[in-house]
Amino acid sequence: MSDYKALVENTQATLQRIAGEYAPAVFASSLAAEDMVLTDMILRAKLPITIFSLETGRLHKETLGMLDRIKETYGYEVKLYRPEQSAVDAYVRDHGLNAFYDSVEMRKECCRIRKVEPLRRALAGNKAWVTGQRRAQSATRTELEVQENDEAHGLAKFNPLADWSEEDVWHYIRSQDVPYNPLHDKGYPSIGCEPCTRAIQPGEDIRAGRWWWENPESKECGLHVVDGKLVRIKTA
Ligand code: SF4
Repeated sequence: MSDYKALVENTQATLQRIAGEYAPAVFASSLAAEDMVLTDMILRAKLPITIFSLETGRLHKETLGMLDRIKETYGYEVKLYRPEQSAVDAYVRDHGLNAFYDSVEMRKECCRIRKVEPLRRALAGNKAWVTGQRRAQSATRTELEVQENDEAHGLAKFNPLADWSEEDVWHYIRSQDVPYNPLHDKGYPSIGCEPCTRAIQPGEDIRAGRWWWENPESKECGLHVVDGKLVRIKTA
């Protein structure tokens, strides 16, 4: 058995275990490549794990287009969570539409309104949530485990692709004919909101295009909480 085959089987087994032992469970999809691998595995196996996405109001049209691709391919409608309109309106009124460029604090406040608060609603009442994070993705994810305890949200958190490499992800997508965001072919290995994501140059870190005006250690949106900490920062 090749390492890749074992990796896929272990990941499928993890998803089966989540569905069997942690119901109700949800999968937070950003509609990027890693998340399409998990979407494919969940929907092919017809696992009772609800797939949702945070529709921040600032996503690329290509990312939103993935919702239709998933519906066409699997007949599945991804559940969407949107920010509270009154909070968005207040932020824009008080600070401006793109105030996240001004400081880390303003960026985190925008992420809090558009992502963190809707995520809290999406996770409420569930026993586990699943993400497509991988250990190799960035300086903030080097200690990622397949199973973690999300104390802040009060449920188990699974990162079934923690051990996967970027090559593994693309091998799965190509070999299983999984639909993927066309931005990945235009220099975007990591995709977030449109104003906070840029294409990267060959040789750059794969998350270099996310919040590129900030230090690598601050580049999380506060979604991935471990031991009560909002940001996972690599310790020296
Ligand atoms: S990624 Fe950018 S636009 Fe999206 S919620 Fe965070 S700061 Fe706002």
